[in-house]
Amino acid sequence: MLRCSNNEWGTMLTGAEYKASLDDGRKTYFEGEKIDDLVGHPLLGQTADITAKAYDNFYDPAPDAISPLLSVPQSADDLRELIPMLHHAGMMAHVTSSSIQTLKTAAGRMDGVKPDYIERIGHYIDEAQRGDVRITQCITDAKGDRSKKPSDQDDLDSYTRVVDRQRDGVVIRGAKLHITGASFGHDLLTIPTKAMKPGEEDWSIGCIVPVNAEGVKIINTTYAPRHDDVRTFPVSGNYHYPEGFVIFDDVFVPHERVFLDGETSMAAVFAHSLGLWERLGGLSALVEECDQLVGFAQLVAESNGTAGISHIKEKISEMIIHATLVRASLEAAIMNCSIGPDGAAFPNELFVNAGKFHAAANYNLMVRHLHDIAGGAVLTAPAPSDFENAEVGDLARKYMSTGKGVDGEYRANLMHAIRDLTADAYGGWKFVTNLQAGGGLYAQRIVTRRHYDMDNAKRKALDIAGMSEDDVG
Ligand SMILES: Cc1cc2nc3c(=O)[nH]c(=O)nc-3n(C[C@H](O)[C@H](O)[C@H](O)COP(=O)(O)OP(=O)(O)OC[C@H]3O[C@@H](n4cnc5c(N)ncnc54)[C@H](O)[C@@H]3O)c2cc1C
Repeated sequence: MLRCSNNEWGTMLTGAEYKASLDDGRKTYFEGEKIDDLVGHPLLGQTADITAKAYDNFYDPAPDAISPLLSVPQSADDLRELIPMLHHAGMMAHVTSSSIQTLKTAAGRMDGVKPDYIERIGHYIDEAQRGDVRITQCITDAKGDRSKKPSDQDDLDSYTRVVDRQRDGVVIRGAKLHITGASFGHDLLTIPTKAMKPGEEDWSIGCIVPVNAEGVKIINTTYAPRHDDVRTFPVSGNYHYPEGFVIFDDVFVPHERVFLDGETSMAAVFAHSLGLWERLGGLSALVEECDQLVGFAQLVAESNGTAGISHIKEKISEMIIHATLVRASLEAAIMNCSIGPDGAAFPNELFVNAGKFHAAANYNLMVRHLHDIAGGAVLTAPAPSDFENAEVGDLARKYMSTGKGVDGEYRANLMHAIRDLTADAYGGWKFVTNLQAGGGLYAQRIVTRRHYDMDNAKRKALDIAGMSEDDVG
């Protein structure tokens, strides 16, 4: 069992304590209203419930216990163990773990900066583990005009920046967008979204901001279904994590929570470190999703009576090959992990980025095959409550059935799950998220290229052509 270093102050939170901790004066908004009772909110409160359940699942009353969800992997085996644990524990555990690993990775890569930063990162990780907090990742800035650098923007706040340096801390202003679970964590890991250049010192800010800090305001959006009966949303009805539009309206951050302030050459270290862990999370999620899509394709083909038809089998075979290659890239990323100076394990950059790119870029093909195989009932199958209606229930069952051994309601439920996962609000969220989360396809392409051994490839090409490097000219 994965476990962190023990300590005498460790106190893990129960689900109830987690919920109580959200009542801390945070300013969080939804569809024009300020939410005064996040836990009691009819829609968003469900996310607090889901997160609280994960706290309870991992709760250990021992006074020195530290959640394995906040641990730092030390080997390929630890990484392999951590990934399914995080999936099981849900999105808040995932973003917290990636934040811890990001800080650990960045600390190991920060050369020639104030040793204070690395010490502060170490202290923060320790406190976060002991406090059993949830951390969300604030990297993506509003960014203004994408073709301009931060200092050339019409609005200098388009990228989060330091607007005042005081004796005991800094004041930051800006906004971080699309932040998964921002209203449901305790701390906001706030780091530059890209590399910075000399002259961009004010935008080179990395720090931790408590969600309830004065000046933090979060606007939530969610794909959560708004139906009274969520049985037709078997996935998203039970599992939803709002994104937060996080505004830093002149927020004071004390020095002990500042990990970078002005060192432009180090700004990208955080983004690259986070990218690695976010893409590992994305890749491992896609491994699961690919298998789920294959499973749905086979189940729905069987229930439609088409599982033996050659073009259906071919499509499912293609899906299997894709799912297998995506899984193989995750396995390669774990097996080829490297161990940092203080013993922390990092997945292999090349395999993470190439695998995440390939899985995300071809996700639409997987979904296309599934929709093609399943048929229109994906969108139009009667709801579970229709099957309970005395007048039409049995008729719905009769006509949704495709023959003996295929219950109409079972087939409708398959269709509801496929619709929820791929063709409704959550399905749409997934489509965009798989492409954009972790920095988008372009970013993954750049990092893959950077880590690929091009010299080796060129040597091989010259070799097969009967030439050598001396012939290049
Ligand atoms: C559901 C969801 C959850 C997310 N969760 C988080 C989170 O928890 N934390 C977080 O920090 N972010 C999060 N993100 C944000 C995600 O990382 C960004 O959406 C992604 O990096 C793209 O940035 P953008 O949305 O600003 O789009 P843009 O930057 O506008 O990109 C759109 C397109 O333009 C291209 N482009 C933009 N600028 C340039 C340029 N200068 N040169 C070349 N091409 C360019 C991009 O490559 C892309 O193809 C999340 C996103 C989604 C959809």
